[in-house]
Amino acid sequence: MRIKCGIGQDSHRFEPEGSQKALVMGGVAIPGELGLAGNSDADVVLHALTNAVSGVGGVTILGPVSDRMCLDEGITDSREYLKKALETLGDYSLTHVSISVECARPKLLPHVQSIRSSLARLLGLDLSCIGFTATSGEGLTAFGKGEGVQAIAIVTAASDG
Ligand SMILES: [Zn+2]
Repeated sequence: MRIKCGIGQDSHRFEPEGSQKALVMGGVAIPGELGLAGNSDADVVLHALTNAVSGVGGVTILGPVSDRMCLDEGITDSREYLKKALETLGDYSLTHVSISVECARPKLLPHVQSIRSSLARLLGLDLSCIGFTATSGEGLTAFGKGEGVQAIAIVTAASDG
């Protein structure tokens, strides 16, 4: 069995106060919170994950491909970008995902299980293969000061070939 690992990172700042854009993280809408700025739904968790999958597949999706999907085809659902990245894995299948998020807001603890379930569904993995942690950032960085959200993802993929 051959193993590959991929790492991905992403960050977005919040929309201005008063914006009606929904906050979406890991494919889950988090009600009552300011959304993140970006052309797409700005799902920072799925963007980090998509980049990590690209780290295995060797094909960059976020940017060259997602911009075309977003701007030309009007596809703003980041789950579609993730699907494109998953199509590049060839003989490899994901076996595990670990995600770490830094943000002062929102408080993610109440949403961790629904985000993990969403990711498990999107990736076709068992819930036990989805790690997700969140830290507040202690006021140190722009994320820790509540200006935006940063996500880092590591994926493991295996091939029998
Ligand atoms: Zn992004």
